[in-house]
Amino acid sequence: MSSAPHFVPNHAPPDRPRENALLFLARGMELLVLEHADRVSIPTGADFPELAAGAHYLGQLDGVDCYAAGFTQEFIAPQGYKVVTARTLYRRLDDARFAVAGRALAIVEWDLTHRFCGRCGQPTQLVAGERARRCPVDKTPFYPRIAPAIIVLITRGDTMLLARNAQFPEPMFSTLAGFVEPGESLEECLAREVKEEVGIDVKNIRYFGSQPWPFGRSLMVGFTAEYAGGDIVVDPKEISEAHWFRPDQLPRIPPRLSIARQLIDAFVERIQGAAP
Ligand SMILES: [Zn+2]
Repeated sequence: MSSAPHFVPNHAPPDRPRENALLFLARGMELLVLEHADRVSIPTGADFPELAAGAHYLGQLDGVDCYAAGFTQEFIAPQGYKVVTARTLYRRLDDARFAVAGRALAIVEWDLTHRFCGRCGQPTQLVAGERARRCPVDKTPFYPRIAPAIIVLITRGDTMLLARNAQFPEPMFSTLAGFVEPGESLEECLAREVKEEVGIDVKNIRYFGSQPWPFGRSLMVGFTAEYAGGDIVVDPKEISEAHWFRPDQLPRIPPRLSIARQLIDAFVERIQGAAP
């Protein structure tokens, strides 16, 4: 039996050469990869020694060191390399490397956007032994931030509420989601988002699982909830339509990567498992 790739995060770079390390080079939501005929791979430290020298240590993937560094708009990818939107690497990279790539994007973005102190404007410095930058003048620390968001599948009997986001370029239906506001509990956020987006009330909120979502620097916290009352009235700024769907009449739904899909699949399994 083969075991799944195992990533051990760490921020303290080991004292060993970086030639064989995986080097995740990020710019915004883009990543530099090596293109082969049928797949892509991640460059190594030997490919870009200067970038590797200043890179952030991420940890080890199956014993291989992983680093992340940024590259500039002026950067021209050498022959054989290509800058791609990281999202498109899903299934072209194995899941473990894809997940590390997500970390890399977030770390590089944090590093880039906290070069200066927000309090006094002085250049910040990396803190040894921590994933942090700090202002040398007023000592304000800047850690990588993530934004918690709730995502919820609302059920009513053997149906589930799925909505089409007004921003989605394609006609896809998904669960409801929204960012937690300061001072709000996850449950309060969930009730507010549901009320705002589709106008209904929910009960029996239950934790489902969570998923880091680096493309929005977010942590998606998944729940299920049951319909408690009200009629669907969508907020047209956020949602273009929302309906109750039975498992056997599903519209186009998100890909398997997403926690939205896991919520939907779990409900479908439960309903179909209970069917006579
Ligand atoms: Zn400062």
